[in-house]
Amino acid sequence: MADGTMRAWSVVRPGPVEEGSLRLVEKPVPVPAHDELLVRVRACGVCRTDLHVAEGDLPVHRMGVTPGHEVVGVVAGAGAAVRGFAVGDRVGVAWLRRTDGSCTYCARGAENLCPRSEYTGWYADGGYAEYTTVPAAFAHRLPDGVPDVALAPLLCAGIIGHRALRRAGLPPGGRLGLYGFGGSAHLCAQVALAEGATVHVMTRGAAARRLALELGAASAQDAYARPPEPLDSAILFAPAGELVPVALRALDRGGVLAVAGIHLTDTPPLHYETELFYEKELRSVASSTREDGREFLTLAARYGVRATTHPYPLSRAVAALADLKAGRFDGAAVLVNDLS
Ligand SMILES: [Zn+2]
Ligand SMILES: [Zn+2]
Repeated sequence: MADGTMRAWSVVRPGPVEEGSLRLVEKPVPVPAHDELLVRVRACGVCRTDLHVAEGDLPVHRMGVTPGHEVVGVVAGAGAAVRGFAVGDRVGVAWLRRTDGSCTYCARGAENLCPRSEYTGWYADGGYAEYTTVPAAFAHRLPDGVPDVALAPLLCAGIIGHRALRRAGLPPGGRLGLYGFGGSAHLCAQVALAEGATVHVMTRGAAARRLALELGAASAQDAYARPPEPLDSAILFAPAGELVPVALRALDRGGVLAVAGIHLTDTPPLHYETELFYEKELRSVASSTREDGREFLTLAARYGVRATTHPYPLSRAVAALADLKAGRFDGAAVLVNDLS
């Protein structure tokens, strides 16, 4: 950064990643606003949302945006109003970047519902770069002793999975069903198991079913198969609306189904008596709050939650996104800064 410039990936023309939608460009090192930190990126997880930003599935909020919202880095500078951080501190940058702090949702602790919220790597440049910025109030402090690459996927996949687990209202020692077993689910399962839950996994992939059993799930079967016992809670991670009635039928009386994804295909009509009656509940999960992040990162450190990771050099971000798109790996890709 001697000359004040850096290299960063930029979404120059949203479209298929194989066709050059992302380009590695030279940009000025960002100048943090009065309440922001400048962060030197060490590692950045690759989330499916990055693919949606690069390919134009999500509307463009900032031309030429730099994706990436699972950033592990170190503080390299700060605006004049920032207190409590020092140069060299390790911090995490997650999806929720800013809220208005003043609406009725923010006032009642539901800042994930803030209509004026902004997101990293979509509204503002994210972590596919040598440097990024984050409002200090939204930076996460990270547990010591865990490598950068292992922490990165916790910052989106982990936090979202954790909010979904809390929204599913699992009672202590309860029976939890997970529909789909990718990045979020395999982290959420580790917390649930550490807290004494019995976990049943319903998913298509044989490798994912194997991983579920290795992590301690009581059973693993096909996505549409019935778990071996009724469930107190279930989480739908697969974006397949046709699984909603399947999961609702698997619930015990009074059970809760939480839908974790931003996107879900249409649900078929629900049968009231078998799928909703006896006080079954269907809930959605929208983004997450800073408190969700703090709670999850604390529990992840306490329980030794580990992501299955696939490191790529940051200079090969397009290859990582293309491999994610093609399903060429299980677990989470993480970009390691080889540019500086
Ligand atoms: Zn994400
Ligand atoms: Zn608000």
